[in-house]
Order: sequence, then C-alpha cells, then structure tokens
Amino acid sequence: MDKDIKVREIVRQKFTDYLNAHKCRKTPERYAILDLIYANQKHFDMDTLYEAMNESNFRVSRATLYNTMQLLLKCNLVLKHQFGQNLSFYERAYNNDFHHHLICSHCNKVQEYKDAELKTIIRSKKITRFTPEHYSLYIYGLCSACARELKKTKKNSKVIK
Ligand SMILES: [Zn+2]
Ligand SMILES: [Zn+2]
Repeated sequence: MDKDIKVREIVRQKFTDYLNAHKCRKTPERYAILDLIYANQKHFDMDTLYEAMNESNFRVSRATLYNTMQLLLKCNLVLKHQFGQNLSFYERAYNNDFHHHLICSHCNKVQEYKDAELKTIIRSKKITRFTPEHYSLYIYGLCSACARELKKTKKNSKVIK
C-alpha cells in the first residue's frame, strides 16, 4: 500500500476513535479537513487552510474549521506553533519527522531543521520532578535571502554617503 494512503487511513482511524470516545459527530467536513492537512507537508495558518478548503469540494465555515482544529489538537493529530508572531501555525503531527524550526526574524520565513544530535541530547535530559512529554525548539535569526538583502542595502547606503 502507498505510504501516504496508509498514513491517511491510520489518522482517520485515530480521529474516528477520538470522535466516538467523546461523542462528537463524524461529519464528512471534519474528515476532509484532516485529509487536507495530511496531504500537505508544510506549516500553515488558519487562513491558508480556510482558503485551501474552499478551493476543494468541501466548503466549510470558519467556525467548523476552528472547531475541527481544536479536536485535532486534542487528539494529537495536529501540532500548534507560535513562531514569534501573533499568528498560530499548525502542522501534521502523526508520522511527521521530528524537527526543530529556524525562524527568520526579518521575513518570518520558517524552515525545518533536523538535527539528530540535538534531539538525542534534549530527549536524554532527566529533569527533577518533571516528566517531559514533548518540546519545541525555535531558533531565531536571519535567513540567507534576508542576510544577502541586508548586506546589499548596507553597501548601497555606504555608496550614497
Ligand atoms: Zn528572511
Ligand atoms: Zn515544523
């Protein structure tokens, strides 16, 4: 079986179990939102998801989208991030390679950063009187495009002077 189809079936099953356990309605819209999230590898915000949903065959209201996202967060199928702006970003949680995030403080671009060594160090930490469940690591700085752009601007301002 194709890996993506398999993942899709597993997450659908997990969602079904959660909805059944919490006596929530199993609407086609909710599954369509889950499918769309798992068809995409990237981080997204609510507006992007809303637009993508409405381009698909399922037109959903913002309220439905919001409610479904709350359910997906509660059953750990989606992760929520706050990358230093007021806006929240989301990404799929199941079968997503664990990664850290590099955030450009100039253009707000977010890149995934995989570092096995870092992951091992953090996971092996024993913290007194605390049981870690998960963590997020955000590294803020300048992306290469912004660094280049800033260098150019600096050079030009020197010429003007
Ligand atoms: Zn940048
Ligand atoms: Zn990510």
